[in-house]
Amino acid sequence: MGEPGRMEFPTYRWMNGRPTELAPVVGAPVAVAVACVYGLPVHAVVGFAVMAFATGLGITLGFHRLFTHRSFATVRPVEWLLMVLGCMAGQSGPFFWVATHRKHHRHSDHDGDPHSPYVWAGRPLGFWRGFWHAHFGWLRAHGYGYPAAAVADLRRRPDLVWIDRHWFPWYLLGLALPAAAGGLIGGTAYDALIGFLWGGLLRHFAALQVTFAVNSVTHLWGSSPHDTGDQSRNNLLVGVLAFGEGWHNNHHAFPYSARHGLYWWQPDLTWCVIWVMERVRLARRVRRPKVRPTQLPAPQPTVA
Ligand SMILES: [Zn+2]
Ligand SMILES: [Zn+2]
Repeated sequence: MGEPGRMEFPTYRWMNGRPTELAPVVGAPVAVAVACVYGLPVHAVVGFAVMAFATGLGITLGFHRLFTHRSFATVRPVEWLLMVLGCMAGQSGPFFWVATHRKHHRHSDHDGDPHSPYVWAGRPLGFWRGFWHAHFGWLRAHGYGYPAAAVADLRRRPDLVWIDRHWFPWYLLGLALPAAAGGLIGGTAYDALIGFLWGGLLRHFAALQVTFAVNSVTHLWGSSPHDTGDQSRNNLLVGVLAFGEGWHNNHHAFPYSARHGLYWWQPDLTWCVIWVMERVRLARRVRRPKVRPTQLPAPQPTVA
């Protein structure tokens, strides 16, 4: 724990960067190739889907809407579960994630934004170099340091500090669980291996691309009905794939809102989960936009 104002780094510094970035990039094609040659049991596909759903919600429901924006409150065991599931997604420590995303909202598409796709504007191939920077390159340029003060609220909680400090073992658990499930269901070493490859590494790769697409695609392609002072866009494809996070212009307009898809035709799976949690009293102080969707400006034509 450092002084306010100083930079912190997630623990397991040697695992931040190339090792955890390389594992899914190498593992994904290996998973597909092995399945093509030796077969793909149904349980491996189910393992992929279950792990993608669980770790995806760890990011969208946990890291993003609960811990970054405090869009709702819940009981501590649910906080712990969501933070652990987010760690299993393999996007480094939760404090780093939250601090980086809060910085994105403070400086969106301006100086200080960690991953704006407009950093190369006006330069040769600026659009596509910007896309790559926002998608993945920013991690190389920005690194994994974060200002401790940006997550002062989370750092006051010893339970959350403990989970953050162990983000890497949680990530490994997220690889081990589908391997163990595959081995138990199929009964052979191959079932465990294909469970590890599909529910672990291929799932890690796919979910990473979806998270990265929220940073790149939804600041480049889509509609922007709200004047948010940045280039955030609403994008249906990312809205579906990222459990509602693709309604990104809505999100920049109402960052505190637990609901990102504001109309019935803007699917928002994460909001559906929060809605159910509220009904069964697992979510409290659920924050909604301060205007009714019918009072919002009509959606604008798509801006390419
Ligand atoms: Zn954004
Ligand atoms: Zn946000």
